[in-house]
Amino acid sequence: MFGGGRAVPRDLRIKAWPMVTEQDEQAVQRVLRSGRFTSASAGEEEIAGLEREWARHVGTEHCVAVSNGTAALSVALSAAGVEPGDEVIVPALSFIGSATAPLHLMAVPVFVDIDPVTFNLDPAAIEAAITGRTKAIVVVHLHGLPADLDRITAIADRHGIAVVEDAAQAHGARYRGRAVGSIGAVNTFSLNVSKNLATCGEGGLITTDDADIATRATMLRQFGELIPASGERSYVAHLLGWNCKPNAIQAAFTRSRLTHFDAEAAVRDRNVRRLLGRLADLPGFLVPEVPADRTHAWHILRFRVRPAAFGLADAFAGPLRAVVQRALRAEGVPAAPYQLQPLPAQRVFAERRGFGGYPWALPGVVERPYRAEDFPAVLRVLDDSFTVQKAHLHPESGPLLDRYADAFEKVWEHRDALAAVAARTAHTPHWERASEIGDAEWEAAFGMR
Ligand SMILES: *Cc1c(COP(=O)(O)O)cnc(C)c1O
Repeated sequence: MFGGGRAVPRDLRIKAWPMVTEQDEQAVQRVLRSGRFTSASAGEEEIAGLEREWARHVGTEHCVAVSNGTAALSVALSAAGVEPGDEVIVPALSFIGSATAPLHLMAVPVFVDIDPVTFNLDPAAIEAAITGRTKAIVVVHLHGLPADLDRITAIADRHGIAVVEDAAQAHGARYRGRAVGSIGAVNTFSLNVSKNLATCGEGGLITTDDADIATRATMLRQFGELIPASGERSYVAHLLGWNCKPNAIQAAFTRSRLTHFDAEAAVRDRNVRRLLGRLADLPGFLVPEVPADRTHAWHILRFRVRPAAFGLADAFAGPLRAVVQRALRAEGVPAAPYQLQPLPAQRVFAERRGFGGYPWALPGVVERPYRAEDFPAVLRVLDDSFTVQKAHLHPESGPLLDRYADAFEKVWEHRDALAAVAARTAHTPHWERASEIGDAEWEAAFGMR
């Protein structure tokens, strides 16, 4: 940023994710030769195999595969009994699919603030958001760290509400000895190319111990029909289903990846811990914390800056983060935001772009505005932190992460110069930028506001 060489050499590249081995290629070829491509194909083995193996990995009775993680969440919520007008609690910091999944059921997303240390749902905020209409809580294990499941489950049980884990970012993470995805009434994973357990495209998995929920999920992915294990398909639709069947090629690919999943996760854990161990010595950064009773899947690494350590007042957290992010990028660290705004500030919610005013216009739904300013912890974290995504997922990324640690150290050495830049830089928080981007994109697409 101020001239000079990069801490991360240009020829040290981020390794492609998902990795693709010869074994993975053979798994895909096996399906191409089999002629059985979806869960509705008689004698299909790869999807059924993946479902069996993932249920065993997570420790649940059942697993149902679907077309992607967002569909998994819609199907799971529907199978758990969420209906139009029900309220579903969702963290205000997550991927948008966590909140559009209930909306597609005409349920009303009710957002709650996060804990600024774990970045997960704040249990006290959940308690405050519960009403007589609350039907489920979407518990996102953001970035790979399990949320406080025992506290959240206790609250949910007291009110007769379903816990639905959205474990799209947390494959393999454990909470008090149990795998995520085994604790809620019904739980979901994504197999999108970006996730820790990936497929060669899109996929999703639903896990549950409840046989009825599992049966409903298999119907919901297939037009509401029951597909018999053998014999003729009836073509009778019993429920309002979707077509979100899984694909056998993608199931076979993930099944092959799964055979190396634990070993690769262990190496990733070592690589990431070595990076975080070095950063822990730098007072300018808050590195992800892992409570002793859980493990972290390290899907995304989020770092907060500490203005006081840079000799700046708290009000400069945003500009300091922006300058540090710029400096790290100049050194070759792909520091980037994850989410520009709290979910409730997304237009689909803030401007109620649902089904022609529904579900909010349904009888008995209490109108509550969706406002960014109601989620101060999310706003604070979005402004004072940045993330590293994808670069650390490949198990051979250790040497790259060591150079990232060099880059952080170099940035810290130059803290006075960076603080001086931060103190005189005009700052626009991400969520204000998001609304400008939104206006410009809409105008470019439709020629009007
Ligand atoms: C990726 C993700 C999803 C959606 O998964 P897709 O397979 O992309 O539909 C849902 N929730 C969270 C937290 C995610 O990170």
